Amino acid sequence: MHIKKLLKKKREIPLEIDDHFKLFGKEPWEVEFGEKCPVCNVRIDEYGFCSCGSGGD
Ligand SMILES: [Zn+2]
Repeated sequence: MHIKKLLKKKREIPLEIDDHFKLFGKEPWEVEFGEKCPVCNVRIDEYGFCSCGSGGD
């Protein structure tokens, strides 16, 4: 199962350098992603952020 791999990965990134954790309070793989952004073609996460930051606007 993939779940076990994900759990093992959990503390792979030290918190000090984990900008995503600092920003969102959870690890990148814990964030739920929705539709792809039409601008940068990256999935928009549950907070409405993507790579270009437009969130599809
Ligand atoms: Zn985007």
